This record gives sequence, structure tokens and C-alpha cells, in this order.
Amino acid sequence: MRVDLMTSAVWLNKTRAAMLFTVMLLTAFLIISWTSFKVAQQSLEAEIKENTLPLTSDNVYSEIQQDLLRPIFISSLMAHDTFVRDWVLENESDPQAMIRYLREIDNRFDTIFSFFISDKTKRYYDPQRILKTMSESVQEDQWYFQARELSDEHPYLIDVGHDPEKRDRLDIFINHKVKDYNGNFIGIAGVGISVEKVKHLIEKYQERYRRTIYFTDKSGQVVLHGDDFRHALNIHQQPELSPLATAILTNPGGSYQYDDDGPVFLNTRLIPEFDWYLMIEQRSHPSEHRLWITLMKNLGVSLAASLLFLFLLWLTIGGYQRRLERMATTDKLTGVMNRQAFDYFFKRLRAMRFTHRNPMSILILDIDHFKRVNDAYGHGVGDLVLQNIAQLLLQAIRSSDQACRWGGEEFVVLLDDCTLENALQRADILRRAVEIAEVSYQKEKIHITISVGVTQYRENENLDTFINRADIALYRAKQLGRNRVESADNNAERHRRTPTL
Ligand code: GH3
Ligand code: MG
Ligand code: MG
Repeated sequence: MRVDLMTSAVWLNKTRAAMLFTVMLLTAFLIISWTSFKVAQQSLEAEIKENTLPLTSDNVYSEIQQDLLRPIFISSLMAHDTFVRDWVLENESDPQAMIRYLREIDNRFDTIFSFFISDKTKRYYDPQRILKTMSESVQEDQWYFQARELSDEHPYLIDVGHDPEKRDRLDIFINHKVKDYNGNFIGIAGVGISVEKVKHLIEKYQERYRRTIYFTDKSGQVVLHGDDFRHALNIHQQPELSPLATAILTNPGGSYQYDDDGPVFLNTRLIPEFDWYLMIEQRSHPSEHRLWITLMKNLGVSLAASLLFLFLLWLTIGGYQRRLERMATTDKLTGVMNRQAFDYFFKRLRAMRFTHRNPMSILILDIDHFKRVNDAYGHGVGDLVLQNIAQLLLQAIRSSDQACRWGGEEFVVLLDDCTLENALQRADILRRAVEIAEVSYQKEKIHITISVGVTQYRENENLDTFINRADIALYRAKQLGRNRVESADNNAERHRRTPTL
């Protein structure tokens, strides 16, 4: 039966230390990875807000402005055309001339629909015919009567409404006031462009820049958007955006950020010709995904590094602990167990005797006239002799036995599962082995003998009384002439030998 010294306690400490270090390391890794992720994310967000998005907004603005301003330019051209003014002043005597003129405009500028409304007759001319006569009492015609009231600062009115021919189609109409040479209002000329066409433009930009693009009027009403637009049609009604709505609609442009399942960056810009806001939104950036992947990779590497560290630490601590354990429990000179460790060992063994009640014996052995060895050859040789005896001891005992340097030149051997009789026999074998062995020093051969006291364990006695009984036997062995084995039990066989030194 072998008792492992302090094994469980050591394991516990080792595990705790390794766990503690690993947790510390992992926490440090986690903090570093998370912080660098956050820093990178923030700088990416700042980059989007301050550079990328405004730049995109500039590009889209300048491109879409060209497309939207063109009809304004055409309607302005029509409103200032001398033909139109002369034709009105000549009392619209040739309606076909106006129809031809409008058709020519459509052909030349590739507009969807051009028109002229004469204020005098309220006739609505289109490129095919006189479509209708405008009436103030018709709801649909109201826009005309509003437009004619426009101040001089606003020469045109932009209106999104149904196409007068194809009712299911929405058009953007540019309604430009026409004045005669004296500045009197004489009608409204203009063009319509299909909303679909502008939507296509929006979608083209959305695809190119990977942003959400839409337009609102000054009240926050969304006037134009792509097909995949998912928000409410008024920014005041978008719960996430509504807190910003007033700021957006009172500034000519700005950069905003709001949260809608993640950060959304918004750049706005007023298009003064339309009185519309160009709104460009960016939800996430492809780099953001890459950042996330980097974070995951970092965490993976951290985990692997921590595990590797844990493994190495485990080995290192194990190695150190084994060394410490060895240093604390073995005798430095001879390599056998020291007295403190033996004490602990014996207590453990004794505690386990509730289940194992095998006979257990002890030998206490002392080198005969060791002082003479020291005196004759010096302390160093004395040490060598001690080491030799320890080696002989270790060779002679079984793995279940335990040898210990009890002090000076005395050793104790605990023989588990061994009766007194067996112990006496084994002690004598040992005695003889020592007797015939020789220690070489320079040219000399040193012969050593030992005296041994033997006893068997009595249930419930402690180590002191156990050893003490063996010690008495040893004393007797010395008394009886050394190089002999004596039992604490007087009835036991005695082994006598004549000392050689
Ligand atoms: P006896 O046969 O009666 O045991 O005689 P002895 O000389 O062996 O006994 P004594 O107790 O008089 O002397 C023991 C000597 O052992 C004294 C001491 O200097 C020596 N000794 C004790 N420990 C060591 C050690 O570690 N190394 C060496 N070299 N000598 C030691
Ligand atoms: Mg002694
Ligand atoms: Mg001695």
C-alpha cells in the first residue's frame, strides 16, 4: 500500500493557480480585443459620418440634380419662348401651332409630357390636343390656381401627381409661370417627367453606392424613393427618426445618426430648386462585418493562446511542485525520505489501518562506529558511506516499504504487510548485504556494519512508542557487540554477529 504525499492538496492548488492565471489572461485578452474592436468601430463610424457619406451625398446630389434640373430648365425655356408669348398675344388663333410646338419640345428634349395652359381661355394644351379646360371648381385642377398665385420669387411650382393621360402613372410636373412682355401672367408652361424614371435613377444610385436614397419635401413627406423603401412615408412618423425630424427639416444639410437595429448614418441636403431634401442613409459598412470577423478571430486566437498557456503552466507548476515536494520530503544527502515526511507518511498509513490491519514492522538501523569512519577518512567519506547505505537500503526494500533517514547515521525502514519474524529475516539480509559491501575510497576499501532494532507494530500505538521500542532493541544490539539484529520482543530469534570494524 502506497500513500501519495499531499497529492490531492497539491492538485487542488495547481488547478486553482492555473485556472486563476487562465481567467486573468482570458480577461486581459477579452478586454484588449473588445477595446480594439470598439476603437476600430468608432473610427469606422466617424469615417462614415465625416467622409464617406458626405462624399456619396455630394456625388448623388450633383448627378441627380442634373437629371432633376433639366425639366426645370426646359420649362423655363418654354416660359420665356417668344413663340409661346406671341401665340397667346395673338389670341391662340392657331391651336395646332401650340400642339406642334409641344410635340417638338417632347421630341427634342425627350420629356414625357409637355403642356401649356392659357390663363385667358384656361385651355390645357398637350402634345396631341387640347386636353381640357381648367376649372377652379375641379379638385384636380386646383394646383393651377395655386401656381398662378405664386410670388415672383417662385417662378415655378413642382408637383407630383397623376399623369393626365395615363391615370395610374405618377409624374413630376414642373409648372412654370409665363408672362407677357409687360410682366402680366398669361399662363403656365411646363413638362412632366415620370416618377418611375426618377425612381430608376434613385435605384441606380442606391445600387452604385449601396445606400438608401430618398427625397422628402419640407414637411418631411417622402416624395420619391426606391422600390425597396421600408420606412413610413413621413419622417415624423418614423419612430427612430422622428426625434431628429425637426433638426433635419430646419437645416439646409447635416449629418445625423440614429439607432434602428444598429447604427444608421444619415446625410441630408436641401435641393433648393425643388425645396426637397435629398436623404442618404447608410446602415452598416462592409468593413464593419470584417471588424466583427477580426474580433472573432482575435478571441479564437486568445482562447487558443490561453489554453496553450494553461497547458504550459500546468506542466511548469507540476514540475516545480514535484521538485518542491521532493525537496521537502527527501533527505538531501541520501535521497531517501526525511523524518518530517516519514512522520506524515506514517500518520496517513496509520489512519488507513481501519480498513487494512496487516502486520506492520519497523527496522531502525545505526551504522557501527561511524564516528571512526569520519575520524579516519573525513566527513566527505562519511557522507559517501551514508549514501552507500541508503542505496543498499533502497535496493533491499519493496515498493510498499518506506526507508527514511531518521537522523545522523540512523535509518528507519517501515515494512508494510510484514510480521516480526519476516522483518527479522529481512533485517538480517540487509545487515549481511552491508557487511559484505565495501566503499572504495582512494585505494582503500572501507567495510561497514550496521546494528538493527526490529519490532512489530502494536495496534493503536503512535510512532514515538513504536520507534522507541525498536530503538531499545537497537541499543541492545549495540550492547551485545554490534553488527547484529535485535528484536524488541525478547522471545524472537536473535541474530548475532561479530563486529568487523
Ligand atoms: P555507535 O556504533 O555506537 O553508533 O558509534 P558511532 O560512532 O556510530 O556513534 P556516535 O553517535 O558516537 O557517532 C555518530 C557520528 O555520526 C557522529 C557524527 O559526526 C556523525 N554524523 C552524523 N551525521 C553525519 C553526516 O551527515 N555526515 C557525516 N559524515 N557524519 C555524520
Ligand atoms: Mg547513532
Ligand atoms: Mg552509530
